[in-house]
Amino acid sequence: MPETLTIDAIQQWLHRFASEITTQADWLTELDSAIGDADHGTNMVRGTAAVVAKLDVRSTSTVQELLKAVGMTLVSTVGGASGSLYGTFFLEMGRNSPSSVQLDASELENALRAGVNGVIARGHAAVGDKTMIDALEPAVTVLSRSLADGRQLHGSIAAAAAAATTGRDSTEPLVARKGRASYLGDRSAGHIDPGAASATILVAALAASVDEGNAR
Ligand code: ADP
Ligand code: MG
Repeated sequence: MPETLTIDAIQQWLHRFASEITTQADWLTELDSAIGDADHGTNMVRGTAAVVAKLDVRSTSTVQELLKAVGMTLVSTVGGASGSLYGTFFLEMGRNSPSSVQLDASELENALRAGVNGVIARGHAAVGDKTMIDALEPAVTVLSRSLADGRQLHGSIAAAAAAATTGRDSTEPLVARKGRASYLGDRSAGHIDPGAASATILVAALAASVDEGNAR
């Protein structure tokens, strides 16, 4: 039987993302206080809380509509550079998802790839620039490679989450070349990028939701 991510599992992903962001908010803000303006935790809590509030009142239709609504909500509530980038991620994911109530593994892969490409198109960051792309890009690359190798979705998404974590940690010694942290020049080295940290939470939350859906 093909593995799928149902609209319920996607909602669970978003709830999990929001609650994990809340748990890690102080850390995200601490990271941003070292190389930015100390608002990344609060920005993300505000945005993900608005997403959850919308999920709770909205009746779900299709994956495409749900993800687009999430993107719009994030654009209008997160603020900062990350607001438009996370918003773009979900809008592009939605635009590249089917009008149905679930995603199969290759549909999920396509949607995630489109989301990451959207962030790259908007922010012009490449791997090594010390941004959320350092976590997102390897995650999607590893997901694709793992699925192509014939591994199942839940193992593949777990590998993607591990790649995001490695990518996040790889930002520590880097000098930032994009975003607010780049104003610091060499002084941005020695700290994990806050957006790479929140993006890792996003991928880990997806892995946990796929895992749970699989166990049912
Ligand atoms: P701001 O920098 O406006 O205060 P946040 O603190 O919420 O916004 O988000 C900062 C994060 O946004 C950074 O840690 C980085 O990961 C991400 N970011 C900033 N600029 C870019 C960009 N051009 N491309 C990708 N990610 C970026
Ligand atoms: Mg900031």
